[in-house]
Amino acid sequence: MQQIEHIGIAVKSLKDSNELYKKLLGEAHYKIEEVASEGVNTSFFKVGPNKIELLEATREDSPIAKFIEKRGEGIHHIAFAVDDIRAEMKRLEAEGFRLLNKEPKRGADNKLVCFIHPKSANGVLVELCQEILAEKYNEQE
Ligand code: ZN
Repeated sequence: MQQIEHIGIAVKSLKDSNELYKKLLGEAHYKIEEVASEGVNTSFFKVGPNKIELLEATREDSPIAKFIEKRGEGIHHIAFAVDDIRAEMKRLEAEGFRLLNKEPKRGADNKLVCFIHPKSANGVLVELCQEILAEKYNEQE
């Protein structure tokens, strides 16, 4: 694991929360990106070497919609940057962590991602993310 890459926060309205976080952090988001496969709209803010990712559901069966229904708005996941996501997935599975996807999948912000079930990490949804490098792009698609 390299560092905390970002913290994901579930919000009801990306529009309202973009304004709120702009006030909080003193700088506007630098990108908005939809991840259709997950049913989410995301926005990203830079905070030093780390980021904040706001997540808004785009449909009722989105994991974010379900999260907000159960627990309200708030911290949804913590993402760690890794060099080699497949190696980390193998290592963590061998350590007994429950991976939510068996293969890395395409996430927001040009990343390959894998999630670890909160039940195996003290109630915290953990995301592993690896930057997609141009030369590796083809093999991952
Ligand atoms: Zn994330």
